[in-house]
Amino acid sequence: MAENLATAKPTPPKLNPVRVPIPEAPVEERTEDFREVLHSYSKEDAVLEAKRCVQCRRPWCVEACPISQDCREYIRLVADSEFDHAARVTLQENPLATTLCKVCYHYCEDACVVKRKGVPVAIRQLKRAALDFGASELVYVPAKPKGQRVAIVGAGPAGLMAAWELGVRGYSVTVYEQDPKLGGLLQTIPTYRMTDADVDADRARFQGLDVTFVTNTKVGRDRPFVSLLTDDGYAAVFLAIGTSSHRSIGIPGEELEGVLPALGFLKGPGPDAPASIGREVVVIGGGDVAMDSVRSALRRTGRGHVTLVYRRSRTEMPADPEEIHGAEEEGVRFVFQRSPVRFVGVSHVEGVVVQSVELAASADGGRRTFVPVAGSEETLACDTVIVAVGQKSDLTGAGPELDLKVTPQGWVEGRGKGYATAIPGIFAAGGRSVVYAMGAAMEAVEAIETYLAGLRGETSQPRPDPFGGPGQFRLPPGYTLPIRV
Ligand SMILES: Cc1cc2nc3c(=O)[nH]c(=O)nc-3n(C[C@H](O)[C@H](O)[C@H](O)COP(=O)(O)OP(=O)(O)OC[C@H]3O[C@@H](n4cnc5c(N)ncnc54)[C@H](O)[C@@H]3O)c2cc1C
Ligand code: SF4
Ligand code: SF4
Repeated sequence: MAENLATAKPTPPKLNPVRVPIPEAPVEERTEDFREVLHSYSKEDAVLEAKRCVQCRRPWCVEACPISQDCREYIRLVADSEFDHAARVTLQENPLATTLCKVCYHYCEDACVVKRKGVPVAIRQLKRAALDFGASELVYVPAKPKGQRVAIVGAGPAGLMAAWELGVRGYSVTVYEQDPKLGGLLQTIPTYRMTDADVDADRARFQGLDVTFVTNTKVGRDRPFVSLLTDDGYAAVFLAIGTSSHRSIGIPGEELEGVLPALGFLKGPGPDAPASIGREVVVIGGGDVAMDSVRSALRRTGRGHVTLVYRRSRTEMPADPEEIHGAEEEGVRFVFQRSPVRFVGVSHVEGVVVQSVELAASADGGRRTFVPVAGSEETLACDTVIVAVGQKSDLTGAGPELDLKVTPQGWVEGRGKGYATAIPGIFAAGGRSVVYAMGAAMEAVEAIETYLAGLRGETSQPRPDPFGGPGQFRLPPGYTLPIRV
């Protein structure tokens, strides 16, 4: 009998496939203004949802997170109603937790074991619950000062992550940002998803660190980035310049009034964005920026019509499925397999000429190629067009001496280990989403730490507990167990 017990396989935990619904604004009210669509769980619902997590021995969710956020642990704490501890666990690895609990594309949920049976655990929403009901006002504590200064160019997610990583390690950090506000492209995310207050809440926890933000300052305009090392005496430089420039579509008529770049439109009223738009809007693109554009346009047209034109099929849209679903629910019209050919109008845009395309298998087995269908041109009448076909880096100040790699999505990276550029002491990285940009910055900081420790004649140290405690919370990428070191 005893032998049988010893050899018996443990019973696998039962997976509950049904998620506790995330509260959201009624569809019919959503497009009236920019009020938040997704709302918080109540405490009771958060606990119920957290109890769906089976605490996998191998935490697939944590491994899928680009910053190795220990979501398994904060979910366990939420399930036990230990919200203060859950907040602390969340914040000790994630300096943009308030932002990410609203806008992260939750790669963790795609990997969650419960997804095999139904809807994955609402890991992002439980991060929000941890911060809503736990001690989210915690302040980071720096390690003993290292006596070395580091410059960061760009205060988007990558720059902020690097500033935090370096700040908690005891470096003196200056972050230069060309815009008046911090956050980089977070500034373009519509307020029905997140607001400036979320970035402010994250930034407030930096107050104890030796991190100085210098806004309205474009580095590289008058002198190359490398002068931060050679003239300004920084020991290392991290370029986190992201993709702040609009990528144009390159078809005739783009200069017409009413043809707007998505970034300018989404940044809200400002030099690039008109206060109001027309009532027949066409958005071109199929990614997340296009989704934010259609849903924002719906809210700004005053019950007008918004059409999305995408040259591939629905299943090939790169946008987050949740965002596509939201746009569909709110009444956006989708036109697939149409490629814009030109914009027409006298001085103001009056229509977009589109052509049908057929999709054919590509020779290399990659994404399908599209073949225009002869004689299929038609005009979609409109008074506003928003072009959302991508962004690119503004490379002013980045000379060839850095030998930067420009990624297909437009941001730049150093080609060396830890994103080192060809100039020793200068590193560059970014990412396709907030948490990917943060993950790249995390990797870069490890290399920066090694470089700076080398200058001091020391070996590099792991990140200390950012709240000044005795533990170390550095999680090596790709780890399985144990979570804590
Ligand atoms: C409309 C929109 C919606 C998005 N929604 C989501 C979402 O829901 N979830 C998600 O995960 N991702 C989303 N993304 C993508 C995400 O915002 C980016 O992947 C992320 O911001 C990249 O971070 P980064 O730090 O690399 O670059 P950026 O965010 O581009 O930041 C770079 C910063 O550097 C500054 N800068 C550039 N050059 C200089 C210079 N020479 N001197 C000083 N400052 C400089 C820029 O002003 C900017 O602030 C969205 C993007 C857009 C455009
Ligand atoms: S940061 Fe994003 S990917 Fe990581 S655990 Fe949180 S929601 Fe998931
Ligand atoms: S994969 Fe899902 S069930 Fe497993 S620990 Fe992570 S959240 Fe819990």
